[in-house]
Amino acid sequence: MEEILLKKCKLVVDAINPIRKNIDILIEEGKISRIGESLSASGIIIDCSDSLIIPCFLNGHTHSPMSLFRGIAEDLPLHRWLEEKVWPLEQKLNNELIYYGAKLSALEMLKSGFSGCADMYFMMDYVAKAFIDLNFRGVLCEGLFDFFEKSLTDKKIKLALDMHKKLLSLNSPLIKSSFGPHATYTCSKELLEAIAELSKEFEAIVHIHVAETEDEQIQSLKRYGMREVEFLDRTGLCNERSLYAHGVWFDEKELRILKEKHASIVQNTISNLKLAAGSTCDLKRLIDLGISCCLGTDGPASNNSLDPFEMMKFSSLMLKHMYKNPAIISAKDIFKLATYDAYKILFPELKGGAVSEGYVADLAIFDLSEIKLRPLLFDDSTHIINHMVYSCSGLRAKHVIVNGDFSILNYKSTKEDEQELLNRFDEVFNRFINS
Ligand SMILES: [Zn+2]
Repeated sequence: MEEILLKKCKLVVDAINPIRKNIDILIEEGKISRIGESLSASGIIIDCSDSLIIPCFLNGHTHSPMSLFRGIAEDLPLHRWLEEKVWPLEQKLNNELIYYGAKLSALEMLKSGFSGCADMYFMMDYVAKAFIDLNFRGVLCEGLFDFFEKSLTDKKIKLALDMHKKLLSLNSPLIKSSFGPHATYTCSKELLEAIAELSKEFEAIVHIHVAETEDEQIQSLKRYGMREVEFLDRTGLCNERSLYAHGVWFDEKELRILKEKHASIVQNTISNLKLAAGSTCDLKRLIDLGISCCLGTDGPASNNSLDPFEMMKFSSLMLKHMYKNPAIISAKDIFKLATYDAYKILFPELKGGAVSEGYVADLAIFDLSEIKLRPLLFDDSTHIINHMVYSCSGLRAKHVIVNGDFSILNYKSTKEDEQELLNRFDEVFNRFINS
């Protein structure tokens, strides 16, 4: 891997260090090896004298191949959206569609400064291939459903294990395997218990939708006589490996269990608002309790953008609205959730989410001449983070480095001809939608 020197970086901002100015960043072997003045390198040298450098964002919950369904089913309640639109279309999916759907989403995420995501869908070996091809990280899990049909349970357990082995066999530093039982209302207790065992055996994250709607808590009470978190805890699925997407409808007892068992929560405000979940995850309460949290976009069919700036802005505004208090959370706290805290949850084995020596070189580099970044107070990191959270929707990174390698250089993928990728996507999509 070639050395990269980011020369004379005008501004370097993250959530844990003071602002730094006019310094050099040296990247070797996938890591930030040195930060200082007048550094030299034998590899690629990039002039950053008009650039802002931040750690990349991570997307804590998405379904990347669902770019195929973006804009196709809108303005419906969640169960009708799933049953009438999404699930019938999903019957027609194949490896090629999954690959191009995931690839389109990965490119969209990379271009705005995401380095990776936690992704749940089907045929995840093809998602892994798409991500590796674009140099994008993934914590991937095969989405599992048995719909309480005993005849399906063993098949789904085998599917989970087979996919886990396939993903491990890729031996890619970008791909991490996890397990993905969809939710307590689509998976039987037997399936969930088996996944709990596999997660323990392989020390793998379990990514699951929890407490997204009030109705699923009612179903859990009816089916098991207890709310979802208590049920998951008894099933062996509430621990430091648990990644709960949504977390809108928790009661006090559930919050106590989450805190005690060190589960992590991904807030997905935009899809909560769009699918009218009635509220959103109360990040403020979770953070105050010491529960680990990060942010997610949810899939491109239920958001519909994969934009870290919108993700941060909506998360912040929703909390201010919920509490009727604009001071309830700062832009810096939101930025930390999307960067530093997300790395701790999704990639605890890496040091990431900050621009520090020894940290993984996942960096997003923005041109400071952008209109959205005006005005600029060069001595104040809060000011630039305020811009990132409140005014940068749609902003594109000039360069994105993932694992010490350029994924995006001068606004373009270094790995793929983007026009060719769009043409291929259109072609497979048209065949799919007309079949
Ligand atoms: Zn989801």
